[in-house]
Amino acid sequence: AKCGPDGNFSKGEILPFGPIALSPSAGVLNYGQGLFEGLKAYRKTDGSVLLFRPEENAVRMKNGSDRMCMPAPTVEQFVDAVKQTVLANKRWVPPTGKGSLYIRPLLIGSGAILGLAPAPEYTFLIYVSPVGNYFKEGLAPINLIIEDNFHRAAPGGTGGVKTIGNYASVLKAQRTAKEKGYSDVLYLDAVHNKYLEEVSSCNIFVVKGNAICTPAIEGTILPGITRKSIIEVAESKGYKVEERHVSVDELLDADEVFCTGTAVVVSPVGSITYKGKRVKYDGNQGVGVVSQQLYTSLTSLQMGHAEDPMGWTVQLN
Ligand code: PMP
Repeated sequence: AKCGPDGNFSKGEILPFGPIALSPSAGVLNYGQGLFEGLKAYRKTDGSVLLFRPEENAVRMKNGSDRMCMPAPTVEQFVDAVKQTVLANKRWVPPTGKGSLYIRPLLIGSGAILGLAPAPEYTFLIYVSPVGNYFKEGLAPINLIIEDNFHRAAPGGTGGVKTIGNYASVLKAQRTAKEKGYSDVLYLDAVHNKYLEEVSSCNIFVVKGNAICTPAIEGTILPGITRKSIIEVAESKGYKVEERHVSVDELLDADEVFCTGTAVVVSPVGSITYKGKRVKYDGNQGVGVVSQQLYTSLTSLQMGHAEDPMGWTVQLN
């Protein structure tokens, strides 16, 4: 669907996957005016398909659109477009336990603009792709490195919104980490170089006894929907969850660390390397009991194996 700066989107249509035509001077190509989202559809054992909190993705895109000077689809338009796209591609949703259908909504400044300014036209599109489980064995520990020469976000920047440019800025840090054999990078805040922020595509949690803490959302961290959901699930299981500044020193005596995100769901962290020192979390072969428990609770909800008292899932027939 397309619209002008007024945000009045045209009716959407289902098209075969393929290239889209853009002017070489499209706002997105020259000035990075683009936002995206990511969500997954899971197949239930009865053959129907479940979405997880799609309205949260719609709200996050709407909130980010102001920072990027773009009009956004309404929550209703967004959720309806996701549903229509998934229904049209239902055969691509893998069987239960064999992965999910990844859904990628994209909002871009598609109009031509030569001088630096918001584009005169916008395109909202959604594409989908089947994906396997993020880890072959379902749940396996990842090894992170804190690369403190790289920062993901600065106060006043765009770290808190899901804009395409944020991911361009992590490519080099991520490649450097992978070349050294790590799974991904854990970023520290750009001002003090001391407080945990997040990983390239997921949020981070630190467990100590019955307390679980995670960096507070203050504009430089993406407000993850999995993060928000895990906070509620953990509280319902009796954990004390704190959203606050989490110092890098707290990693030293933590019991467990895990990451959350649509792609990784809940991923236990097996080790974190910082300034050449490696801290290991190797209880239960690196899959801590809290991470395991929260992973199981969340995936049971997302796959429709458990009751959904919060009403987070949306069933498509
Ligand atoms: N942080 C970043 C930078 C991300 O790209 C993502 C993935 N959207 C997340 C955190 C986790 O967010 P969510 O749980 O909504 O997928």
